[in-house]
Amino acid sequence: MPGDPELESRGRLIRSLGSLREMLPGSFVERKRVCGRPNCHCADGKNLHSQFQISLLVEGKPKTFNVPAKLVEQVRQKVEMRRRFDAAAATICGINLRRFLKEKENQ
Ligand SMILES: [Zn+2]
Repeated sequence: MPGDPELESRGRLIRSLGSLREMLPGSFVERKRVCGRPNCHCADGKNLHSQFQISLLVEGKPKTFNVPAKLVEQVRQKVEMRRRFDAAAATICGINLRRFLKEKENQ
């Protein structure tokens, strides 16, 4: 008997979640800023510094955390992992809801 393709796809999704264990919450944002030093390249108001941050709610309150330059790529990827985790959870819930509705119909 061939396997149920939905169950196979659910299984694949569940197994893929382990690779997302380093995920970070929030959104990854880039802020432009001037540093205030009069001789800096940012003093013209155009060539501003980039400050990367993650922005999220902590106990219902909006918070931002600066991301050190050397961690920017890593943190960007970890925030992206959370998006993939949420997408996988939504797909799994969709499969389970369809199965629930079908099962209910067959009672
Ligand atoms: Zn500057």
